[in-house]
Amino acid sequence: MSDYHEMWASLGLDLKTHDAVLEIVGKGYQDVFLSQKNRPEGMKYFDFVMSEVHGLRIKEIMDAKAEGRKVIGTFCVFVPEELVLAVNGVCVGLCAGAELGFEEAEKYLPRNTCSLIKSAFGFKLAKVCPYIESSDLIVGENTCDGKKKAYESYKDIVGNLYVMDLPQMKSEAGKALLKAEYVKFAQKLEEISGKKITVESLKKGIEIVNNKRAAMSRLAKLRFADPTPISGLDALLANQVYFYDNPERFTASVNAICDELEKRIQDNIGVAPKGSPRILISGCPMAVPNWKIPFIIENSNAIIVGEEMCTGERGTRNLVKDQASSVEELINNIVDRYFEIDCAIFTPNQNRLEHIKQMVKEYKADGVLHYGLQFCQPYQMESKVVEKELEKAGIPVLLIETDYSQEDAGQIKTRVEAFIERIS
Ligand code: SF4
Ligand code: SF4
Repeated sequence: MSDYHEMWASLGLDLKTHDAVLEIVGKGYQDVFLSQKNRPEGMKYFDFVMSEVHGLRIKEIMDAKAEGRKVIGTFCVFVPEELVLAVNGVCVGLCAGAELGFEEAEKYLPRNTCSLIKSAFGFKLAKVCPYIESSDLIVGENTCDGKKKAYESYKDIVGNLYVMDLPQMKSEAGKALLKAEYVKFAQKLEEISGKKITVESLKKGIEIVNNKRAAMSRLAKLRFADPTPISGLDALLANQVYFYDNPERFTASVNAICDELEKRIQDNIGVAPKGSPRILISGCPMAVPNWKIPFIIENSNAIIVGEEMCTGERGTRNLVKDQASSVEELINNIVDRYFEIDCAIFTPNQNRLEHIKQMVKEYKADGVLHYGLQFCQPYQMESKVVEKELEKAGIPVLLIETDYSQEDAGQIKTRVEAFIERIS
């Protein structure tokens, strides 16, 4: 790896803390990913991306900025990358999955705030995230109460926050609100980039993101097979890299893996023996380097076959229709696609229940592990509804509530092992 210290210093990172973070994440990556057996060759690309996630990718982003392109940092799959690409911008995910800077973060947030929000503050306050520092605009969204209130103080810390309002109900009024917010966001992007969104530029943005999502859906469907040709950890990694990488290169790399996996399926090659217990994970998103639960599951003789999460099918399913002759019609198509996202901030949220059951059937899952972050009200509340609905349908379910620490790893492993024994 090249020496990027000069670049990191120019971004204002705290080099000492940042070096320590890279070392811990690198070691974790080694233990969690590189120790797996029989990985597809194509995962080497993702190993490379992860080894350069704060290096080469940031260098590319800095080069894009030097060419006048704007970098837009996001925390939620409701922010349409299509619009960012339509002004030739670069979209990067900012959610973080590590317990870092929490003490500082708790000067702004109550202790009973979810780890995802705390780490967004922690990474900024500890000056260890080059994505936050290189963003020209950071988009916050009014989703859960935690996030929307946290943005009130995050605004003062980052200085370049743009808040997008979001509906809470799947009604006509809710859809109209989403459209109004996307139109406003498009105008903001035009203002900061100095570029007008045209039918051509938006169609191009839609095409790039559709291709990326189609590649992820192709990968997901290959996991219907038994034996499954790729581990849940590796599939999650692809879902996480989705938010950082150059979209076109990412799509090509995922499709290359899919070609390899198709061959594996033909040859009956899997990462776990045929008939291994198959688990579907459902719930809160898992940002890098949050690999705790998948690591526990796949080291307990089970295999994860799908993710009903924003770092999974909730974030990647459904494409945007690109047939339209005006920017407004294209934005309507974008609204149609994003309005289907079944995040737990919506009430009621029946579609998510149907989606989980549909995924269980398609992926031939033997059970569902519902993953809720501690203090995440929407997903914790909904977990009870999910549990009831799945039990009614005869689908075994395990509710896990956790945070970013490793303290409960042993206790979770015991519960996961018991669950796996039950569904085997
Ligand atoms: S869980 Fe909801 S708030 Fe969080 S990223 Fe997904 S859609 Fe956005
Ligand atoms: S995990 Fe839950 S509480 Fe935390 S940001 Fe996401 S929806 Fe909000």
